Amino acid sequence: MMDTLVAALRSLLPGDSVITDPVRLRTYECDGLTYHRATPGVVVLPGTAEQVAQVVRLCNEHGVPFVARGSGTGLSGGALPREDGVLIVTSRMRAILEIDLANRRAVVEPGVTNLAITEAVRDRGYYYAPDPSSQQVCSIGGNVAENSGGAHCLKYGFTVNHVEACEIVTPDGDLVTLDRMDPGYDLLGAFIGSEGTLGIATRITVRLCRAPEAVTTVLAAFESIEQGGQAVSAIIGAGIVPAAIEMMDALAIEAAEAAVACSYPEGAGAVLIVELDGPAAEVERQFAQLRELCANAFELRVAAGPAERAAIWKGRKSAFAAVGRISPAYIVQDGVVPRTSLPAVLAAIDRLSAEHGIRVANVFHAGDGNLHPLVLFDDAEPGAGERAEVVSGAILDLCIEHGGSITGEHGVGVDKSRYMPKMFSADDLDTMQLVRCAFDPQGLANPGKVFPTPRLCGEVPGVRKGVHPLVESGKAEQF
Ligand SMILES: Cc1cc2nc3c(=O)[nH]c(=O)nc-3n(C[C@H](O)[C@H](O)[C@H](O)COP(=O)(O)OP(=O)(O)OC[C@H]3O[C@@H](n4cnc5c(N)ncnc54)[C@H](O)[C@@H]3O)c2cc1C
Repeated sequence: MMDTLVAALRSLLPGDSVITDPVRLRTYECDGLTYHRATPGVVVLPGTAEQVAQVVRLCNEHGVPFVARGSGTGLSGGALPREDGVLIVTSRMRAILEIDLANRRAVVEPGVTNLAITEAVRDRGYYYAPDPSSQQVCSIGGNVAENSGGAHCLKYGFTVNHVEACEIVTPDGDLVTLDRMDPGYDLLGAFIGSEGTLGIATRITVRLCRAPEAVTTVLAAFESIEQGGQAVSAIIGAGIVPAAIEMMDALAIEAAEAAVACSYPEGAGAVLIVELDGPAAEVERQFAQLRELCANAFELRVAAGPAERAAIWKGRKSAFAAVGRISPAYIVQDGVVPRTSLPAVLAAIDRLSAEHGIRVANVFHAGDGNLHPLVLFDDAEPGAGERAEVVSGAILDLCIEHGGSITGEHGVGVDKSRYMPKMFSADDLDTMQLVRCAFDPQGLANPGKVFPTPRLCGEVPGVRKGVHPLVESGKAEQF
C-alpha cells in the first residue's frame, strides 16, 4: 500500500519533496517531546495548499493516515508521525501573502514562524500578539493547531483571539475557508486548538495589534515564592491587567543563570517579571501602584530601554532549555489552576518533589495560573525516569483537583491523552468524538492524538459495552 502511495506522491510533487530515505526520515521522528518517537512511513514537503489537498486526497484513496507538522516544537507529541502514514510538513510554505494595515490583518502561509509576522510589520508600528517562548521557530500553523499562548496572552488572549480566518484542507481533501464572520456554528473556533485532527491549515488570516505607546518592564526579586505569589494576587486584585506576569523559582533562576547569564538578583527565592503596556499616562499610573504592591520585593529593577527589557526576558524565555544545564533529562509539564490555588498547588508540588527525591523547577505564567513545572531527573539512574513520570502525572492530578486543567497551552497530543478520562466523563469524550467524526469520518487526520481509545466513526455514542475492537486487537490501550 505504502509503495503505491509513494509512487503516486512522486508523480504529484517535485522530486525533493518526497522523503523516503531512512536516515532523512529520522529527522522527523519526534517533536519537542523526544521520548515518543516513530519513524514516518514517508515525509512530504508540499509548497502549495493545492499540493497539501492532493496529498490528503491520495491518503484518503489509500486509507493511509496523515499527520501535519510545522516546526516540530510541540511539547505534547502532537506531530509524532505514524510509521504507516504520511507526515505533511509545512516548512516550505513560508510566504507572507498579504499585509493589510488598514484592516489590521495579515494573510500568511502555515509554515511562517510566529516571530516573522511581527518582524514584517514592526517598523510600521504593529505586531502579532500571541508570543510563545518558541516564537523564533514555531510555525503559525502549529500555533493555530495548539491554540498557543505565551507571556503576553494574559492581557491579549490566545491564538484563538487573533485568528480571523483559516483556509484548511479537510481530512477528505477539500480546500475550504473557515471565517470568523461566517454565520452559524463557530467552525473556526472548533478548528483552532484541534491539534491537527480536523484538517490542515494552509492559509491563515491573523489580526495585527498596534504597538503600545509605552512599555515598562519590571523585574521584582523576592525571598520566597510565597511572597512572589502574594504580589501577583495583589496586582490582579488591584485591577491591573499587566501585559505579562511571569514567575520563576530559585531552581529555574539557577538554570537560566547557568545557560544565559541573565544576572537576576542574587539570592532570590523567586523573581517576577511584570510588563505594563498601553497609553503612557496609564502605564505611569500603574507603575506607581505596582511599586507599592511589590513592597515586599528586596529588589525592583526597571528596564531603561529595549536592550535592558530584552535582558530581563532572556532568562525567562530560555528557561525550558536552560534546565538542561542543571539536569541531564527533564519533563516540561503544562497544567493550569485557578490563580488563587497557586500557593496551595506550589506547596503540594514541593511536597511531591521531596517525597520522590525528584527536583522540580517552576516557571509559570502566574497571571493566568498556567504552571510549567520542569521535572528534573538523571536518565542514567535506574528508576529515576519512572519517578519523574509519577511526579509529573501527580502534578496534573493536583491541577484537576483544584479545578484546573491538564494543559494550559501545550495541548494534549499523544502525551496526555491518557489523562483525558480523568477530566471528562465517557459521555463528554464521546460527544467530542462526534465533532471529530463530522470532520473526519475515516479517522485519518492525526489519529491516536488527543483522545485515549478512539471509538470508530459510526459507533453509537454512550457507555461502551464490551472491549473496544482496537484494544482487543492490541492497537490501543485502555487507561
Ligand atoms: C522552548 C519551547 C518553548 C515553548 N513555549 C511555548 C509557549 O510559551 N506557549 C505555548 O503555547 N507553547 C510553547 N511551546 C510549544 C510549541 O512551541 C507550540 O505548541 C507551537 O505552537 C508548536 O508549533 P510548531 O510549528 O512547532 O508545531 P508542531 O510541533 O510541528 O505541531 C504541533 C501540532 O500542530 C499540528 N499542526 C502543525 N501544523 C499544522 C497545520 N498547518 N494545520 C493543522 N495542524 C497542524 C501538528 O499535527 C501537531 O498536532 C514551546 C516549545 C518549546 C520547545
